Amino acid sequence: MKDQPSTPPECEASSRPDWVPADAGAGFATRVVQGVSPELAKAERQSSAAAPRRRRLSVDDYATGVLARDPMVLGRAITLIESNAPAHQEQAQQLLAKLLPHTGRSRRIGITGIPGAGKSTFIEAFGCHLTELGLRVAVLAIDPSSSVTGGSILGDKVRMEKLSQRRSAFIRPSPSGGSLGGVARKTREAILVCEAAGYDVVIVETVGVGQNEVAVRSMVDFFLVLMIAGAGDEMQGIKKGVIELADAIVINKADGDNLPRCTVAQAEMRRVLHYLHRATEGWETPALLASSLTGSGVPEVWQMTEGYFTTTRASGALEKRRRTQAVEWMHALIAESLRTQFYTSPAVCARLEAVEHAVAHGRMPALAAAIELIAASRG
Ligand code: GDP
Repeated sequence: MKDQPSTPPECEASSRPDWVPADAGAGFATRVVQGVSPELAKAERQSSAAAPRRRRLSVDDYATGVLARDPMVLGRAITLIESNAPAHQEQAQQLLAKLLPHTGRSRRIGITGIPGAGKSTFIEAFGCHLTELGLRVAVLAIDPSSSVTGGSILGDKVRMEKLSQRRSAFIRPSPSGGSLGGVARKTREAILVCEAAGYDVVIVETVGVGQNEVAVRSMVDFFLVLMIAGAGDEMQGIKKGVIELADAIVINKADGDNLPRCTVAQAEMRRVLHYLHRATEGWETPALLASSLTGSGVPEVWQMTEGYFTTTRASGALEKRRRTQAVEWMHALIAESLRTQFYTSPAVCARLEAVEHAVAHGRMPALAAAIELIAASRG
């Protein structure tokens, strides 16, 4: 039989506090146990006094720390970006302005796949391979499901344990809560901070459950869709158009008994890709096999990725994509800002409910209502 865990030593009768009845025995509901020894309490006080307190950082401190590649400051800079407090947002924007000249040099890679496709296992294998080649890798996650379901698909498990122990890797889970738009903005800004911190490759991971893929596609250079054989094409995104966003398809878990099925899936995927629109001008989307578990095919995925960057750099497609993305992002920010201004305007807040009611009951046309509210918001 296994040993029972040892219970805390009960106080000797002589050292019991005054409030314990003298005849405290089985009838006394509370067991009085030995507290922390005075020596231990003193040692703990000393060690907590010696521990450095979390100093508030200025924008310059953040910028210097990020540029000096200090992972602790990088983590705090991303926390600052993720904060919804107006003071933090202002600081974050100042920080981004300082870092902007140092951004743009990484390869931005998006990776998606349905839950269970093996994203974390793949990114772990892929990331470790890159670090072995001497590259610095940052992994960011987008998982707005956390705001819908109250739980995070990407964040719950201990993920990428090996990669997270490498000094040249940085892993950041998804910011919790918020709309997809909000999470996407924070992730875009986190990419810039990671670039300023000298990461050669920034991987943005997302669960393939809907709109997330489009958001990630709009912030990365190269978009990889991870699939598994036999999970149903429809479910994995062919009908949702996710394949058309992909610069590469990797069929994962191509190992053991599953290998023949994966080879068939690869041939089918190649046929499908032949008929689809290319995601990137001048680049034919390949379908590769890999096993994140054994590592086979992983170096080939990186070779193919490098081929993509060489090709699109030479053709100008990469530069063009980044320019388009930056302009689209600006428009998205304008739209978001106008929306916030509108819905927080006191005149709109005061009248919105009544106008909604009038529209719902057919007493006011939607267009007239919108015009009236917009006019009210402008005071
Ligand atoms: P995610 O939900 O997409 O992040 O998927 P995970 O990385 O958590 O993997 C889901 C399951 O698939 C886990 O049990 C992994 O061990 C397994 N898995 C991932 N990659 C491979 C692979 O290449 N081969 C095999 N046989 N199993 C794998």
